[in-house]
Amino acid sequence: MKKLFLIIGAPGSGKTTDASLIAEKHPEQLVHYSTGDMLRAEVKSGSELGKEIESYISRGALVPLNIIVDTIVSAINHAPVPNVLIDGYPRSVEQMEAFDTIVADEKEIDLTAVIEVRVSEAVARERILGRAAEAAPGEGRSDDNEAVFNDRMTIYTEPLEAIQNFYTDKGLLHVIDGERTLEEVVADMDTFVLSKIQ
Ligand code: ADP
Repeated sequence: MKKLFLIIGAPGSGKTTDASLIAEKHPEQLVHYSTGDMLRAEVKSGSELGKEIESYISRGALVPLNIIVDTIVSAINHAPVPNVLIDGYPRSVEQMEAFDTIVADEKEIDLTAVIEVRVSEAVARERILGRAAEAAPGEGRSDDNEAVFNDRMTIYTEPLEAIQNFYTDKGLLHVIDGERTLEEVVADMDTFVLSKIQ
């Protein structure tokens, strides 16, 4: 039985960095997968699937449901340790409902909590555009620019309330203030996750 934590947050919320630092602290207990990183790894491999994925990522659009569901289910099933953090899922009501069906059927997955790393749009924008400005030529992400940021933000915000309500009703939503220092956010998330797995 694997305990699963889903981590959601706006682009620039820091969710990927937070989750990877926590997993690094407890390698025997926790593993972390980022949907964005897994998809970008597929793009980098040069496969046909990667080419299809890049056509969505580069414009800030969501990749199709079957691709993302296969990606995360395979990550969970192959996880080498009993507790899994996945950030960047769900990003739509459709993804949330699809996953709810999977969790109901799949006795080996226990959805333990959904953590929302909350930041204002202004903070998110500042961080993403800062990251774009600092990237070495050729090293930046195809989606870290102002126009694509706006689309990513709209896509994040549109289903957010429905997602919050759904997981609040199930007693699974845990909100973390992401506008503090990285150390503070990580400490908070770490305490919460450990309290659920020990
Ligand atoms: P951010 O959350 O900062 O936008 P990510 O690295 O998490 O960055 O995601 C980058 C892109 O990867 C998204 O804009 C989208 O194209 C794709 N992606 C990531 N997660 C999902 C998902 N759950 N469903 C569909 N597409 C996704």
